[in-house]
Amino acid sequence: MNAGVLGVQGNIAVQERLFRYLSSGRVHPGLIFSGPDKRSKWQVAIGIAKFLFCNHRGKDAFCNQCSSCKRIEKEIHPDVLLFKNDEDDSLKVETIREITHQMEVAPLEGGAKICVIEEAHRMNHASANAFLKTLEEPKPHRYFILLTTQLGSFLPTLLSRSIVFHFRPEQEVLTFTAEETERYQKLVESFQRTRDPRPIIENCEEKEACLRFIQFLQTELRKAATGDEPQTLFSSWSSYDCAKKFDEIVQLEGRLRSNANYGLMLESFLRQEF
Ligand SMILES: [Zn+2]
Repeated sequence: MNAGVLGVQGNIAVQERLFRYLSSGRVHPGLIFSGPDKRSKWQVAIGIAKFLFCNHRGKDAFCNQCSSCKRIEKEIHPDVLLFKNDEDDSLKVETIREITHQMEVAPLEGGAKICVIEEAHRMNHASANAFLKTLEEPKPHRYFILLTTQLGSFLPTLLSRSIVFHFRPEQEVLTFTAEETERYQKLVESFQRTRDPRPIIENCEEKEACLRFIQFLQTELRKAATGDEPQTLFSSWSSYDCAKKFDEIVQLEGRLRSNANYGLMLESFLRQEF
């Protein structure tokens, strides 16, 4: 059975690598997402589910509009099983048996089933062994994504039968020079004042420049959402609003990467969200 560890830079990079991996058509039944940031791992896992089930899937992107994508977003797709509850100290063997049993039942809609388990390192020895049986003799098109903040707590045998993707906190990856920060801040402040997106769009003519600007917004929104660093750009918004807009702009980045009309998309996003 395939096994390996991929260490990569940044979560968008993880997502792209995963999409390429999924596009190759040889999908391993056990993926582990490891890293301190619960939300970005969850988002990427949901992105994988959308990518697998999307009715209008592109080469490296899901549409986020079709009924499958929408139901996955609302967490009501029958073939996407989500186990978010991480309040219990352990994932008991009964719970794991129930999960693997549900995964054995034939898919209701598509040809696949996907299961996402948060904080999956909570499996004890018996649970992990029960889970291993599923990975050793997987039914076709059944995929498990295990999310964890404690990779070291997994049984080595479980790790060796999975592919591990390492997620890093975004702020470790995205850094901006003082010149960039000042330029982007002026652009955002000017837009907030005038509602005229043209100076921003002119600065984002190249796709790379556009993505860079988007990443700057992500970094600032993230800071505002977590209160990590004092900043003023979005201080009039609540941290909830900043977190919500951060999520939206992460999605926007994904869409921009696979769309030629990135200038138009950015403009419409600015008008709607900012
Ligand atoms: Zn879709």
